[in-house]
Amino acid sequence: MKLPKIQLIDDVLSLLYPQVCAACGTLLYRNEEIVCLSCRVLLPKTGFEKDENNPISRIFWGRIPFNSASACFFFSKKGKIQHLIHELKYKKNIDAGLFLGNETAKELSQSSLYQGIDFIVPVPLHPKKIQKRGYNQSEIIGKGMTELLGCKLNSTNLNRAVASTTQTKKSRFARWENVKDIFVLNRPEEFAGKHILLIDDVITTGSTIEACGRVLLQAPGIKVSVAAAACAVS
Ligand SMILES: [Zn+2]
Repeated sequence: MKLPKIQLIDDVLSLLYPQVCAACGTLLYRNEEIVCLSCRVLLPKTGFEKDENNPISRIFWGRIPFNSASACFFFSKKGKIQHLIHELKYKKNIDAGLFLGNETAKELSQSSLYQGIDFIVPVPLHPKKIQKRGYNQSEIIGKGMTELLGCKLNSTNLNRAVASTTQTKKSRFARWENVKDIFVLNRPEEFAGKHILLIDDVITTGSTIEACGRVLLQAPGIKVSVAAAACAVS
């Protein structure tokens, strides 16, 4: 319960700076935070994380031996997840990313495939991009996942070595050529025998995830699982 005076200050502030839902842009009610109740209920879940044979894990079959791979929400044009990711990447809305991480972790924590994780490792962003944006969006999502999954975030062991040009308009092969040598594992022994959860915001062709996975698998006895918050496949 807030004191009447503090509540009044809150109300005046919300008139001056109205809080809007990070997933749909509508005004939030006094009892809502970051994302409105309606969006919370209607987030487009994939359910992929409970199924070993899902469209995301199939991307990697015959390419790289991941323990499991999935994405928890559908990304669609003008949809709630696109809105949340846009807020995180371009509007400095850290809370939107933490929320998305937390929701992703809720789904993963209910799956037997994602138990016993030691470290969450975000796909590294190039330092120049971090400088421009101020943070790595996948790392923020990862931070939002640690509490529910009961593990630590590790963003210092896997690093990006050189700049890659933008991925968007390239074929799968060109994308692979672009990313295959750009990641390095600084201390393989730190991940030896551990179960690592490699995470990304949105998964598309899987080339970046595959390149990271190849480098992580250099650690002896490592188990690598993959989870993205979102995917565009249906
Ligand atoms: Zn909403």
